[in-house]
Amino acid sequence: NPVITTTDLTKVYRSRGREVTALDGVDLHVREGEVYGVVGQSGAGKSTLIRCVNLLERPTSGTVTVAGQDLTALAGRRQSAGSALRQARSRIGMVFQHFNLVSSRTVRDNVELPLEILGVSGKERTRKALELLELVGLGDKARAYPAQLSGGQKQRVGIARALAGDPKVLLSDEATSALDPETTRSILQLLRDLNEQLGLTVLLITHEMDVVKTICDSAALMRDGRIVESGKVSELLATP
Ligand code: ADP
Ligand code: ADP
Repeated sequence: NPVITTTDLTKVYRSRGREVTALDGVDLHVREGEVYGVVGQSGAGKSTLIRCVNLLERPTSGTVTVAGQDLTALAGRRQSAGSALRQARSRIGMVFQHFNLVSSRTVRDNVELPLEILGVSGKERTRKALELLELVGLGDKARAYPAQLSGGQKQRVGIARALAGDPKVLLSDEATSALDPETTRSILQLLRDLNEQLGLTVLLITHEMDVVKTICDSAALMRDGRIVESGKVSELLATP
């Protein structure tokens, strides 16, 4: 039962008269409830792929479907379909390498941000934010500011914020690349726990095979804008 599907996804960047094919016919199938890793070297097209799934980037051709909804059709009407797009986005949580927290806001207010955008009332926002902070193990940091937190704690806030809109899927763009090995393990464990407890589907991109080995059920290897290998991690690792 695929929850994220891309079909013949292509992205060509044009800058200063030059063309770069970042995605070259990518077919991705992520099943509901799995942790799926896309691994590859810098420049392989991983960021472009995840940005197309998150509607931050408009594909040149092909389709992206998340939870049964064709996002490519929505993204094509960026201006007019504002509310449909916002709705679709709220079902997709995104976690970033550099956390992307708002430094002038408290931890709780950072987690409330997506709920504000969705128009959730103040009281309900606060209740939800505190619940999510408990879930990621930061119940006692609600009133702190991002600068007062460690890298791992900042990423926990990033994860809580990503969960605020009750997403079906969580996208992670190198979420542990800026963290030390021990913190990396604890963040990967948190993602795994959330996957198991909430049935959350996780699509993550990484340049580290270790991340894939640690938490992914399935994975795709990208090179030059293409998926060159994909399948269950146990089977991929068994291939000589
Ligand atoms: P990865 O995430 O695997 O490092 P990217 O998706 O960032 O790969 O990049 C894939 C290719 O697309 C690279 O050659 C990169 O230079 C190019 N690229 C990415 N974004 C842009 C952009 N906005 N404009 C032009 N080229 C880009
Ligand atoms: P990542 O670590 O995600 O691959 P990069 O440093 O490659 O990040 O890219 C950072 C930003 O710059 C992204 O938004 C990407 O789309 C853009 N970018 C990457 N390569 C190019 C390029 N050749 N020309 C213009 N923009 C680019």
